[in-house]
Parts: sequence; C-alpha cells; structure tokens
Amino acid sequence: MNQNLENKLKEELYELKNHNLNRTIDDLRFINPTKAMNKDGMEYLVFGTNNYLGLTHHPDVIEASKEANDYGTGSTGSRLTTGASFGIRELEKNISEFKSTESALIFNTGYMANLGVIYALAKENDIIFSDQLNHASIIDGTKISKAKVKVYKHKDTVDLENLILDELKSNKELNLFIVTDGVFSMDGDIAPLPELVEIANKYDCCLIIDDAHATGVIGKNGKGTVEYFKDKTGKDLSKYVDLQIGTLSKALASEGGFVTGKQFYIDYLINKSRPFIFSTALSPSTIASANTALKLLKENSKRYLNDLNENTKLMRKLLNNGGLTVVDGETPIIPIIIGPTDLTNKFSKELEKEGILVSAIRPPSVPKGESRLRLTVIATHTKKEIEFTAKTIIKIWNKLKKENMEIKLNE
Ligand SMILES: *Cc1c(COP(=O)(O)O)cnc(C)c1O
Repeated sequence: MNQNLENKLKEELYELKNHNLNRTIDDLRFINPTKAMNKDGMEYLVFGTNNYLGLTHHPDVIEASKEANDYGTGSTGSRLTTGASFGIRELEKNISEFKSTESALIFNTGYMANLGVIYALAKENDIIFSDQLNHASIIDGTKISKAKVKVYKHKDTVDLENLILDELKSNKELNLFIVTDGVFSMDGDIAPLPELVEIANKYDCCLIIDDAHATGVIGKNGKGTVEYFKDKTGKDLSKYVDLQIGTLSKALASEGGFVTGKQFYIDYLINKSRPFIFSTALSPSTIASANTALKLLKENSKRYLNDLNENTKLMRKLLNNGGLTVVDGETPIIPIIIGPTDLTNKFSKELEKEGILVSAIRPPSVPKGESRLRLTVIATHTKKEIEFTAKTIIKIWNKLKKENMEIKLNE
C-alpha cells in the first residue's frame, strides 16, 4: 500500500467535506414515479428524477420487462459476439423511425454513447467545438479523443464562428465537429439549433447533438430538439444534424444510450467505437422496457407531452410568483439559483424534512457561487403535489432569507 497516496486522497476528501462539497449516496425505493421510500420507511415526494413521463412504473413497461427475462437475465456478451438480441435491433429500428433518420445504434449508457461517438469520429488534427455547458460525458468524450478541443461560450454562436474562423486560418486538412446538448442538463435551456445548423453548413462541420433531456421532453411529439424547432419555425432541420445522441434512461424509463443518423456513421461506429465493441450488451429486459416505453410515447405523445408541459408551466408560475430566482425557460428542468453552497445544502435538507426531495447541485457540476436547487417536474405529478411543493419551497426560502439577513446584521 502506498501511504502517500492514502494521505493525499484522504486530504482531498477532507477538503471536500470542509467546503460542503462531498458527495454521499442516499438509497431510495420508488413506489411510483413521484414517490419514493428510504431505508427507514420514510416516504418522499420526489421532484428530481429524469423520469419525465413517469413510464418506469407503467404496467405495460413492467410486463414487457418481466416477459423478456424468459430469454435470460443477461445478454451473455458484446453485440459483436453473442449479445445481439432481436430486441436491440427492433429498438434501433424504432428509434431511427421516431427520429426520422436512417439508422441507430444502442450503447450501454448515454455516457458511453457520447464517449463512443466522439472519440471514434474525431481524430488527431480534427477540431471539436464544444458548448461550455455541455454534459460531462461530452466533455470526457472530447478529452479522450485526440482532436483539438475549442470550448465556445454557452449558446454563443458568434463566439463559435469566431473560433472556427481562427482555426481555419491555419487551413489544414481537418474535420470540424460541433457538439452540443439539445436541452442543457443543468439550466434546462435549449441549444440554438437553427444557428448551429447554419454555421455547420457554412464551414462544413459535423453537427452532433445530445438529446438526453430532449427526447420525450420537447417537440410536440417528444421527438426532441429538431422537432421543437420544426414546431417553432416550420423548418425541418433533421437532415442537417449529422448525429443525434440520446439516452434510454430518462423519458424512456430504462437504461442505455443511443446514437442515430446516416447508415455509414452507424457502420463506422460498429467497427470502430470501443465502448460499443468492448462491453457486454444490455439485458433483454432492459431493452424490452425501453422499447415498450418508446411505443407508449409514440402512441400517446400528445397526452404525455401536454401533461408534462402543463405541470412545467404551473410549477414555474407558482415559484416565480413566490419571488424565487428561477432560471427562465420552457423545459421541466427548473433551476432555482441559491448561490452559496451551504445555503443550498440547507435548503435541500429543510425540504427533505417536509417530505420533498429536490437535488442540490453544487460545484463542480455548476460554477462556483451558482449552487442551486434543480427541480424537475414530470408528467405524472399531480396538481396538488406541485402546489404543495411550490408552497413549501416558498415558505422555506422566506425563512432562510430572514435567517441569513439576521446573521449578516449580527456580523
Ligand atoms: C444524462 C445525460 C447523459 C448520460 O446518459 P446516461 O444514460 O445516464 O449515461 C448524457 N448526456 C446528457 C446531456 C445527459 O443529461
């Protein structure tokens, strides 16, 4: 054992604790998509899941997952050896149909999809332009690729274009990539896809968009960012987006990731993407859950999306009326900026005492001084649950504000 290493790691952990930044795991058991129980049997109302349509507990999804267990509880190998079930291929077909693309490929998580796509495609001498607030899995994908990475200011297409022009001056044989979240996971805002498409076309860039929080969440049928802008502008941008990445773990109630786009990209990834090649395929029951959730989404999209939007609007309105600093937006990711980390932790603890779980998001997930509660609303929250939660949040905020002022006055 290396004593020096042990001391160093322990010191780092101590520093994290000291700054209220250490992470711990709280075990939960979900009774339904909005209610969960802890080990002591305490029940909580949860406003923090990615289970946007509440499909994790839909009887059809559960039944499909049980039935698929008849084909074995594990997939037995990588897709390229023995792990390729009929279900995965069917799901890929359904995803590419849903997204109106040629083909799709399933990865084991959304995280692995980003890694597997970005570092398979972007090579030495290539350049990746990446939004400043992209998800960690995109950042990690760009880091392990051999390409040069240029981070542009959040949603700032002027900055992006300037960075591209700067790079083009050196005029090498290189491929350019633009990578962005569709819906940004921490702020819940939406990427400026029409402008990104324009730039990608002008400079011949491969445009990759990660719709993890957009699939099943935005667009009138839940098809994601491309559909959202089609509803808004009437223009169908699908053929200008090279690859759309997504996850099965959020609105699709299961786990796994996917990428969808032209067939040659998918063929290339099957041959070259290490996270795809060297990992065991997902189990039949995991795939069956996702497939059934997607089927339900296709059949009921209007109703699901309507419920989700109504709930989102109601929660945003109540919190705004209560005087909280809510980051403006349209998605069910509702960040409430608190600022100091300790105050944010306290807020989340107080809510827990009232039986409500909302995640406190702290650095390094968000910049220093921007700690926040990240509240997510789902389609199956009831109006009563939303009203109760908004009221409780406002009550606690007023109490904490008052206490904080008193502390400052006494200083
Ligand atoms: C959640 C998320 C992922 C990771 O998906 P998993 O399936 O949970 O690994 C990737 N990208 C974005 C934008 C996400 O929000």
